[in-house]
Amino acid sequence: MERLRVDPIACDAFGYCAELLPEMVWLDEWGYPVIDEAPVPPHLLEEARAAVRACPRKALALHRFDGPPRAPRSPGTPRPPRPAVPPGAADTPSPPAGAVRLVARTTDRRRGPVRGG
Ligand code: SF4
Repeated sequence: MERLRVDPIACDAFGYCAELLPEMVWLDEWGYPVIDEAPVPPHLLEEARAAVRACPRKALALHRFDGPPRAPRSPGTPRPPRPAVPPGAADTPSPPAGAVRLVARTTDRRRGPVRGG
């Protein structure tokens, strides 16, 4: 089974993929593709490959996977909620005070390494 994936960094929102495969790709309000995460049905595989080939930024790809099949999502169906993040788990720990001072004293962007200190 194969799934479509888009590289959001490479994509430039040309929208060819949505024109070539409207059954599985929609465009958001900025013109970026929203991809159906369900496996590409066999009868759409050739259109999916054509959409991948037509992507001018090589941002669209087909990936093989062996996981359990997912039900197809139709346009407008909300995504399932993300699992809750425990309080404090998303916080980035601050570096120890000594490490911050060491970096600040040993580098200078304009002059390079600082001697001594
Ligand atoms: S064809 Fe490629 S660049 Fe254009 S919207 Fe689709 S993924 Fe993005």
